[in-house]
Amino acid sequence: MIINGREISDKVRSGLKSRIKDLKGKGVTPGLAVILVGDDDASKVYVRMKQKAFDKLNMHSKTFNLPADSTQEDILDLIQELNNNDNYHGILLQLPVPEHLDEMALLEAIAPEKDADGIHPISLGRMMLGIEGPLPCTPHGILKMLEYSDVDPEGKHAVLIGRSNIVGKPLSNLLSLKKDMGNATVTLCHSRTKNLKEITRQADILVVSTGQPEMVTSEYVKEGAVVIDVGVNRVEADNEKGYKLTGDVKFDEVVEKAGAISPVPGGVGPMTISMLLFNTVYLAERYS
Ligand code: NDP
Repeated sequence: MIINGREISDKVRSGLKSRIKDLKGKGVTPGLAVILVGDDDASKVYVRMKQKAFDKLNMHSKTFNLPADSTQEDILDLIQELNNNDNYHGILLQLPVPEHLDEMALLEAIAPEKDADGIHPISLGRMMLGIEGPLPCTPHGILKMLEYSDVDPEGKHAVLIGRSNIVGKPLSNLLSLKKDMGNATVTLCHSRTKNLKEITRQADILVVSTGQPEMVTSEYVKEGAVVIDVGVNRVEADNEKGYKLTGDVKFDEVVEKAGAISPVPGGVGPMTISMLLFNTVYLAERYS
């Protein structure tokens, strides 16, 4: 089975339409402010995709594009302004930011009640405790992919490769919560993990988020496992663009062994954007 992120995304987005309508009936258009610092090509593509998704659902979204040499103060000032602007229910700082900036301090300056990405320390603390709040978009999107594919993590061994703050760490937490779409036994692997293949071969659910193109071959996968590929890598290709997108999983090989697998593109990517829409609607409902 191919876990089609585009199809599941469409379902999630359709489910938001009536909620957006209700908000509009109360004079509220859910709005997102995106802060983009510099002109990183991949970031610009992501921001355009987000903008398009917001437009399509008649939500409000504006990108604030600051020069790459902006100071920490410049960006903190903008965040402060947006924190106080009622037109925006969510604020998203497009990552990564240029190296001279303190990314964590910027993320922390965003008001938790406008944390569209669900990665503010307060949101993550709430998530860890199982208290309602905006969830980090990519892990939340992965849970939705599992849910719509009728994969209940309860009692399963979920192995995650990659311990980033935006994917592996929060997902390991969500999957081990004592609630629906949780209750898994979780192993979180990273670059210092020994005998990685031996561990991943025990996975009922394998989530790969390493940024290493096609690193996970069929040798890493148990027959019938559910494989979620988070990676988005630009690799050189003989086409007009000069590159193509590939995941962290060697799809052609693993698809033969896995019980279900998400492709790249068309897997986790669209789900991440859907959960950003979801969080913005949620924040507008809760705080406007
Ligand atoms: P990071 O790039 O921040 O970190 C990579 C993680 O993978 C680290 O924990 C690292 O270990 C681990 N790792 C790297 N190489 C190996 C290896 N050979 N064996 C085992 N572990 C390894 O992670 P992100 O989650 O931010 O990004 C990963 C990928 O996912 C990227 O391609 C990114 O573009 C993509 N992504 C896609 C999203 C989407 O919406 N589709 C959203 C977010 C990310 P260590 O900690 O020890 O260094």
